This record gives sequence, C-alpha cells and structure tokens, in this order.
Amino acid sequence: MKTPIPNYAYFRGKIVPYSEAKIGVMSHALNYGTAVFGGIRGYWNESEEELFIFRPTDHFKRLFNSAKLMVMDLGHTQQELIDLTVELLQTEGYRQDVYVRPMAYFSDQIIGVKLHDLQTEVTIFSVPFDKYVDNDTGAHVTFSSWRRVDDNMIPARTKVAGAYVNTAFIKTDAVRAGFDEALVLSADGHISEGSAENIFMMRDGLLITPPITDNILEGITRKTIIELAEQDLGMKVVQRSVDRTEVFICEELFMTGTAAAVTAITKVDHRVVGDGKMGPVTTKLRKLYDDAVRGKLKHHRDWNYPVYEKMMVKAK
Ligand code: PMP
Repeated sequence: MKTPIPNYAYFRGKIVPYSEAKIGVMSHALNYGTAVFGGIRGYWNESEEELFIFRPTDHFKRLFNSAKLMVMDLGHTQQELIDLTVELLQTEGYRQDVYVRPMAYFSDQIIGVKLHDLQTEVTIFSVPFDKYVDNDTGAHVTFSSWRRVDDNMIPARTKVAGAYVNTAFIKTDAVRAGFDEALVLSADGHISEGSAENIFMMRDGLLITPPITDNILEGITRKTIIELAEQDLGMKVVQRSVDRTEVFICEELFMTGTAAAVTAITKVDHRVVGDGKMGPVTTKLRKLYDDAVRGKLKHHRDWNYPVYEKMMVKAK
C-alpha cells in the first residue's frame, strides 16, 4: 500500500504546506533515531458526518511518557497537542478514515550521541488510511528469529524511532518468508507481541494477553480490547506471560493495534489455530471495536474526540 502525501503538517509552531516541513540531514533524530512518535487514527462516521479521533488523551499521554524516558521537553501540554491535531485535521478537511502521526525529535544539527542539552521540535501530520494487514480475518504468522528489544536496552513500552529498527527486521523477514506478520519473543523466550501489534489468545475460555512487563508496547488498542471484553462481554482477561507453544494449542489468537485494529490469526508456522477460522470471541471483539472507534457505542463515547464539532474550518 502506497502512503499518500499529506497536504499540511504542523511544523515549527504552525500549520504549513507539507512541502515546507523539512529538516536538515544533520538532524540528531535522523542520525541517531532520537525521536518519539504516536500513531493515532481518526474514523469517519458517515451518518453523523463527523471524524472521530480515537482516544487521543491516551495516545498523547503515551507520547509524553516516551518523551519523558528520552529526556525530551515537548514544550506543549497534552491538550495543546490534541487541539493542534484537531486544527490540522480540519485544515485537511478529511471525510474518510485517517492516520495521525505526532512526533517529537531532537533537531540539533550536531555530531554526538546523547539525550541531554538538545532542542526538541514537535511535528504532526496525517494521511488517509485504510487497512494495515491485508489478511485481517485469517493472518498466517511465523515466529521471528529476532528477539524483542528489552526494557534495559531500548524500552519497548515507548514509541522511540530507533527501536523501530527491531520492528523493521521482524516485519521484513516475515513478509519475505511469505507470512503476513510475525510474533516476537522476549530474550527469556516468552511471547512479547507482533511487529507492531499486541497479542491476545483464548485458552480454555479465558482471554489471555502478555503483561506490560514482557517488553510490549503499552498498546491503546490492547487497553481498549481489555475494557470491551470485561465491560461489554463480561469476560475475564488475564495478563500473564505466554509460552511459545501455547499459541499452537489455543482456541483463538488475534493481534491488536491502531493500524491493524483486531486482526485474526488463523495459522502460526503452518499450524492451524483452533478450527482454522476466525473464532467467535475475535469476531465479537472486532465488531465491538469497529463500533467503538466510529462512535457507535454510546457508553464509550468518551473515547471519540470529534474533529468538526468545534468547527474552525468547514468539512469539504
Ligand atoms: N506494538 C508495537 C511495537 C507497535 O508499534 C504498536 C502500534 N502502535 C502496537 C504494539 C499496538 O499499539 P496501539 O494499539 O497503541 O496502536
């Protein structure tokens, strides 16, 4: 899938044409991976003619945590960044699903690897966005030969640009070997997550997901699925370490992520998961999640942040 180029970006304090949002090749973040970023989606609700940003408060809170770990001062409050995102999306005038990428990066043009005494710049851009994993109702995944970065190396719980080299290794090797995605193990051999998705399995009627201490990104979709399963389906969700071989004998397996939404996994390394079809719990949670992100679940409307309600710029 080719990513479209945005028309605008928030850059150096204002919204500018995207072509003006440029940085020098000596920039610290480009040389050393010292940027933190978010991945947020906006979902178009046709009947309300509204674009809803999904859980921006949670996303920007995670961005602030990533920045804190990187000794970065964002120079904005979380609400300011949400307001800027709304303004950017209004300026773009989207009437379709979108992906929003806020990013903070060290902009100094210097030689020297460090985190202290550097200037932070913040940018936000957005693009129209559809599906991430093509085969989202029956993905075939493998176990990556790479290991997930450890909290004592580059914290996996943050979205630090440099850590995404780990993700890129995992994804490319999986795709080149003919798989849709890969599961990745922590150094101690437990399942951590997918390349850019968290993992859930159904075993003996329990919904199980690795804990945040097993080198996972603290996923917002993961958090949403736990809440939907517990509050809307009355299920018990267990957060515990998951062994490699458990996914061969579980009843259902799926991945979650802002880009991947809820993607069913029906095969792992040529072994069939459950009966080989997307299972009933995955199906229910997919539907609930899709309704939740589009603002169709009244009791979860606090997750949906409207873009056009506070009209500064009219939707085109
Ligand atoms: N793990 C990794 C490594 C990711 O990059 C992502 C995508 N942000 C996820 C999990 C899923 O997190 P979220 O649900 O917040 O998008």
